[in-house]
Amino acid sequence: MVTMTTHQLHPIPALTDNYIWALHDGAQAWVVDPGQAEPVLAWLAAQRLQLAGILLTHHHGDHTGGVAALRAATAAPAWGPTGEPLPDGVQHVRGGERVALLGRSFEVIEVPGHTAGHIAWYCAGFAPASIDGPVDSAPGFASASELASAPAPGSAPDLVSVPAAASAPDPASARGQPLGPEGLLFCGDTLFSIGCGRLFEGSPAQMLASLDRLAALPDSTLVCCTHEYTLSNLRFARALEPEHPGLADHQRWCERQRQAGRPTLPSRIGLERALNPFLRSREPALRHALQRLAPKLALAGFDADAAPATPEALQTGLAAKPVFESAPRWTADVHAFTALRRCKDVFV
Ligand SMILES: [Zn+2]
Repeated sequence: MVTMTTHQLHPIPALTDNYIWALHDGAQAWVVDPGQAEPVLAWLAAQRLQLAGILLTHHHGDHTGGVAALRAATAAPAWGPTGEPLPDGVQHVRGGERVALLGRSFEVIEVPGHTAGHIAWYCAGFAPASIDGPVDSAPGFASASELASAPAPGSAPDLVSVPAAASAPDPASARGQPLGPEGLLFCGDTLFSIGCGRLFEGSPAQMLASLDRLAALPDSTLVCCTHEYTLSNLRFARALEPEHPGLADHQRWCERQRQAGRPTLPSRIGLERALNPFLRSREPALRHALQRLAPKLALAGFDADAAPATPEALQTGLAAKPVFESAPRWTADVHAFTALRRCKDVFV
């Protein structure tokens, strides 16, 4: 059952391309992965809100850098994953544990891969009443007069246009329709719109299992990723599948959002299941596309006359060589996923 509330969801731009997601009820606010304190404190002051808590998904500095200053200024409690080095005073939680947040219960889902202890925060059956703006100017972010795009005809005036949950062949066709979100997910750097996080500490098998776990959530779940990577991810996805009509349509929508200074997020699980190559690595069409693209990327890494973009890209390309060579013999799902992730790593 979906429970409508007065809660509002707001992405606070930070650093180069981070969003610090905030959820508030008009009096109290929680924030997720505050990589900086200053934009959060400025937003709290402007909105006359009190910080009631902080949720963390993993230990990277662009997700935790503002915790100490925010706690010093507000004494707000904070929760983060067990087994990761987190700022002093952060309480550690494991998968299945819950934290109460503005009258809602958020469940911890363990999603290792990007880091060894990465978690996601999920609230089932909960729909924020709106996603409010404006998006303030920040480094790397265009300023915008408002976050909300024009609502679809007949929709509630304060409900912004977000990608629709859809399993239809053209998932973008219903975009903007208020389908009633059935859940809210803060997934850090595990699932990005049309992409996924790099594997810094975990294995491809761990990341595939983590993405499977998130992909099993209801289609209309709002997906709050931490980075504005969607257009970059779409370039890779379209290099894989140039003829995919859903990707082309979604790219046009995302370009309009960014040109207007609006986020391409939150996404929805249904849209990601339909378009995100990292949630589709078992599909025959995706695997055929991967086998076409993989040798081209591998060659770029091995051509002595063609300098790779970075030493890191060369190293990744070399490490990926056995995977590319074995492409016709992929027997396990994780082989295809590994090749896909490594193709993205060397894609320039
Ligand atoms: Zn990270």
